[in-house]
Parts: sequence; structure tokens; C-alpha cells
Amino acid sequence: MAFKKLEIIEPILKAVAAEGYTIPTPIQQQAIPLVLQRKDLLGCAQTGTGKTAAFAIPILQILHEQKPMAPGIKVLILTPTRELAIQINESFAAYGKHTGIRHTVIFGGVSQMSQTNALRRGVDVLVATPGRLLDLMSQGYIRLDKLQIFVLDEADRMLDMGFIHDVKKIIAKLPPKRQTLFFSATMPPEIQKLANVLLTNPAKVEVTPPSSTVEKIEQSLYFVGKMEKPELLLHLLQDKEIKTALVFTRTKHGADKVVKILQRHQVRAAAIHGNKSQNARQGALSDFKNGTLRVLVATDIAARGIDIDELTHVINFELPNIPETYVHRIGRTGRAGNNGIAISFCSAEERSELKDIQKLIGKTIPVIHEHPFIMSANTAAPVPFARQQQQSAFRPRRNFSSHETRGGNHVRRGYGAQRSTGR
Ligand code: AMP
Repeated sequence: MAFKKLEIIEPILKAVAAEGYTIPTPIQQQAIPLVLQRKDLLGCAQTGTGKTAAFAIPILQILHEQKPMAPGIKVLILTPTRELAIQINESFAAYGKHTGIRHTVIFGGVSQMSQTNALRRGVDVLVATPGRLLDLMSQGYIRLDKLQIFVLDEADRMLDMGFIHDVKKIIAKLPPKRQTLFFSATMPPEIQKLANVLLTNPAKVEVTPPSSTVEKIEQSLYFVGKMEKPELLLHLLQDKEIKTALVFTRTKHGADKVVKILQRHQVRAAAIHGNKSQNARQGALSDFKNGTLRVLVATDIAARGIDIDELTHVINFELPNIPETYVHRIGRTGRAGNNGIAISFCSAEERSELKDIQKLIGKTIPVIHEHPFIMSANTAAPVPFARQQQQSAFRPRRNFSSHETRGGNHVRRGYGAQRSTGR
């Protein structure tokens, strides 16, 4: 199905085509017509499914059809993190570039000046994180009395991150007559309750995790101390079978740290995360796709939209705290009929994440008991070194020296080096 079939107007079709999208994702196919019919929506979908465009495209279209518009914020999108807020705002910029719809983003942790200046100039669509929104509302910079559409994005993460109280405070200030779009990857009881209160006769759209893909992926688990994870990663990368690996960390800082260690050991690696410019991210991605880089280290948000047919390995350097994210991460490998291998590191601190993941996928991930950094699966503490040597069929732990080669990578070519020699 083409986007045209969804009766999207020309200025948006043109922008979507410029993004390189040809076919709407399942959530877009389902949600776009419902939003255009002005229905309330309950969307069970996680990031990576194309859900941003699923609400941004029809919202832009609804506003474009109201032109010329009266001033005032007509659409509020509430999202838990600064990264998501920025990305949603970027999506409105991309899909709405021929519509003239004004949008801006506000989030905490930075000076409010440029944000309040943008608000003063007037916006139609406001993307916000809860804290800064409440703050600017209380200072009188934001009025929501003209609001027509409210989007609550990643509701379950709002709960996880302790923002649910702020979210409820914001909801209390919205005009009761409005269209509400509610997105959540999971539906814990408190979120279901909130959805019941917020939505009127909602249409339900669900995109289930690609469990069929997961079946084909060979999964394994390494119990390892937190501090030993970099060494275990280097150890595994000695295997030349690992042609390409997408390594997931939870934080941007963590991704940078892993890249530094890998580069120090002559592994061609780069990080992609929210602090990198769009150009830097795309550069790293194309270097990874063409084989210049062997390892790409990514945070979940930055890895959205990464689709590489030949990706052989996904390595969870850290387990995600949202179990669906695990399914989504490992689904990046094993594409296009290739075999996929997903390796996960689990430290003592990550036991509860592991439990949630195994519950979701309905199976126990096979544990690799023989590796040089083994930590007992039953005790939280790493196994003493002497016992490691007895347990392990591999050679004991050692320090890697910087001139060693790993996996056939002799040349140190980090991302910085790539940038200065090429594009
Ligand atoms: P989201 O779930 O909104 O975070 O989107 C995940 C990724 O998919 C983003 O990088 C989008 O740019 C990309 N994307 C969204 N819709 C499409 C589409 N119809 N075709 C191809 N890529 C898309």
C-alpha cells in the first residue's frame, strides 16, 4: 500500500517521499485514517514501529486543512524524554516542511529563553516533556485553551520515569473537548486506568512485537560482572564470525565509553546517539553498512530506523529495562533470510530486567557457562578467579595490549578518522 492510498495531501506526500518512505508501516496504515476521522486512539506500539509519523502526518494534515488558522497551540505532544521530544519535533519539521505549520519543542535541563522566544512567536504544535511544560505553564508562557489534539506518547515510560503525577496535572488543564491519541508499548494497570479516563470511545491500534522473527534468532546469555563487560565484549569480538555487530547500551555516555575501549583495541567502531548530529549518525551508519566499521554502538532511541539486512550479531551490552525493547533490538538481526545471533550480557544488577524479558518472550535464554569472565548464575557475585579457571574451558582472563589484533582488524580507524578522510 502506498501513502497516497491513505488520502494524504500532496504537500505531505512530497515531504514523506523526500524522507525515502514508500510504504506506510502497519501502525501508519491503521492509525492515519482513524486520526483523520478525528477518532480517539489507543496505540499499543513501541518506538521503531513508525508511530511518530502515524500521528504526525494526520495531525499536520488536519491543521493544514484548517488554514488560515487562528493563533494558539492547537496540538500538544507530551513525551517522556528530551531525545524523544527533539525527534518528534524533527519529524514535524520533516513531514510538515511544505505545510507552513509552526511547531516547537520544550524540555528541561537547558535555559528556557530560546523556548519562550519561540512560544512568543506563536506555535501550532508544541512538543514537550512534562516538567518543563508545567514550569512554563505556571510562568504564563503557555495557554492550552485552544487545544484540539493531545498526544500522550510512551505513557508506560512516563510511569517508569516517575512523571505520571505531572502528566495528570497537565491533563487536568486541557480543554475537555479534544481528540486524544494515547501511545504506550505496554499496558500496566495504572496506564490502562489512565487511558480509560482520557479516551472517549477509542479505536485501538496494536502492533505486536515481531515474535516470529525472534524465533529464528539464536539467543544466548552471558552472566558477567558489570566491570568485566568490556573485556567480555573484546573477547567475543576475537571471533571472526562476528562480521558486524550492533551493540546496545542504555546511555549515550555508556555508548561512547564502549567505543573508546573498542577503538583502543583496534576494533573499528563508532557510536550513534542523541548527542551526535544527524550527519554524524548517518555517516556512522553508512560506514557500518559498507563494512568500514565493524561495530556500531547505539542507544535504543538512536538505533530507531536502523535496518541492515546483513547484520549478523546484536549484542546487548546492557539489558533494556523495557522488555519489548529486547525483542525490538534482537529483531535487527536475522533479516532477509540471514541467520541472526543475539548475545546478551547480564550483570547482577540486571536480574529483574532479565526476568521481565524472559517472561515476555516466553522462554529462558540459553546461558553460556564457559567464558573467562563468568559470574555465577545463582549468586549475585562474580565467581572468584580461581574457580573461573576451573570452570572455564577458555584461557583465563588477561589484559589486552593495544597492539593486539582482534577479529582481523589491524587498522585503527575510529569514526573521527573516517570523517576526516572521506565525506
Ligand atoms: P518511530 O517508531 O516513529 O520512532 O520511527 C522509527 C523509524 O522509522 C524512524 O527512523 C522513521 O524515520 C522511520 N520510518 C517511519 N515511517 C517509515 C516508513 N513508512 N518507511 C520507512 N521508514 C519509516
